[in-house]
Amino acid sequence: MTNETWGLVREELIKRVGRNNYVTWIEPLKLSHLNGGVARFEVPTTFFGDWVSRNFADHIRSQLNTSGVAVDRLEFAVSQSARGPRGVAKSTATVVPAPVPVAASASAAKPATRAAAKPRSESEEMPGAPLDARFTFDSFVVGKPNELAHAAARRVAEGGPVTFNPLFLYGGVGLGKTHLMHAIAHELQTRQPHLRVLYLSAEQFMYRFVQALRERQVMDFKEIFRSVDVLMVDDVQFIAGKDSTQEEFFHTFNALVDQNKQIVISADRAPGEIKDLEERIKSRLQCGLVVDLHPTDYELRLGILQQKVELYRQQYSGLVIADGVLEFLAHRITTNVRVLEGALTRLFAFASLVGREISLELAQDCLADILRASDRKLTIEEIQRKVAEHYNIRLSDMIGPKRVRTIARPRQIAMYLAKQLTPRSLPEIGRRFGGRDHTTIMHGVRKIEELMATDSQMSDDLQMLRRQLQG
Ligand code: ADP
Ligand code: MG
Repeated sequence: MTNETWGLVREELIKRVGRNNYVTWIEPLKLSHLNGGVARFEVPTTFFGDWVSRNFADHIRSQLNTSGVAVDRLEFAVSQSARGPRGVAKSTATVVPAPVPVAASASAAKPATRAAAKPRSESEEMPGAPLDARFTFDSFVVGKPNELAHAAARRVAEGGPVTFNPLFLYGGVGLGKTHLMHAIAHELQTRQPHLRVLYLSAEQFMYRFVQALRERQVMDFKEIFRSVDVLMVDDVQFIAGKDSTQEEFFHTFNALVDQNKQIVISADRAPGEIKDLEERIKSRLQCGLVVDLHPTDYELRLGILQQKVELYRQQYSGLVIADGVLEFLAHRITTNVRVLEGALTRLFAFASLVGREISLELAQDCLADILRASDRKLTIEEIQRKVAEHYNIRLSDMIGPKRVRTIARPRQIAMYLAKQLTPRSLPEIGRRFGGRDHTTIMHGVRKIEELMATDSQMSDDLQMLRRQLQG
């Protein structure tokens, strides 16, 4: 890739991450190496690299791929020039351990080589994505919202006879889907090293497939994917609407199920809710065990923070956190675990740089932007999801045309809550309810207001929903 391409990619990234983030985190990145699916960037500090890797790596990677630069993995290395004699970069590094990717198979770190004449040795051609060494069962905090998903993942990780296929994990961003999948892979590798475990994202699946098409290696592709013992595909919603990739995925899936090989899939929503996914795939996905990761609750968030602090403490004894800081963070940062962890990482880095104890005040200062962003967290989609769940209707019915009362009423409740709990205007809300007119929304809101005055069940329901949504 030329620097020109990287320049273009950067332009696109502004749109994706916003100008502020771009200026702070993307612009300073220097592309230093691009080879074999790995793009390496120079960063000023380890903390910086860690931050970019957690928050923007997916954007960068997918934008690179969209621009025709096939990249599986990003690496961030502290640039030599930034390592001053006083070791500023180093001192951050001691606080923020850099992510240590390990290979999913002996080969995963290497890109699949395409030597058609050579006999296939598995270490060369398992086209998986690297696993994050931190994502283990040990480091996964179990709470009410994720206990089922965790139990199911554990079961698969035992590697016993396949009892449900696939295991389908779904839930919102940053709730631990990828973590659990990596944990399964790690565990399987320890318990049953002979198994061929292949983990990759649906996006990577697609790029591999497209690459195989281009290089006329489709047979190889099929063979590789059909010869694994455990296939894990992350974020499968990505292939919705991509017809030939879906088709190939479907066949791979069936071939493996027929051989009784375990499949684990994740997505950001339930199989039935993924738009533009073929019906036959949806129903196949529903055949196994479908479990969701619920949004975190306060206790789980606090547990995760405590565990992270414990980890840091074991390594660095100087760390002092004032009482109440973790509780404050668990209370205020409710969006997702990734943001929560990011906040803590930044706090540690900052505290160690300025050599101060982490007080509530320091936290408020240092995390002002994150705290502000968490304030306006509630989206119409979350409201729809919650209400649909509560009344046991499908999320798609929220935006669909059905008019029977059992569906129309919950839909109106969601409209009412959207009006109450988000800053969106009636036309904006209308758009998110399947393109309804703003007068329809107004009518819905009024209807619920009326009902609340006369129907105590309704007003109880609403109070509860509101409480849950505002967490
Ligand atoms: P998803 O794939 O669902 O978007 P990830 O698995 O990438 O989310 O999780 C985001 C971050 O939050 C990761 O760093 C992960 O380790 C952390 N995380 C999520 N849930 C938990 C948990 N229950 N315990 C510990 N860490 C968690
Ligand atoms: Mg994920």
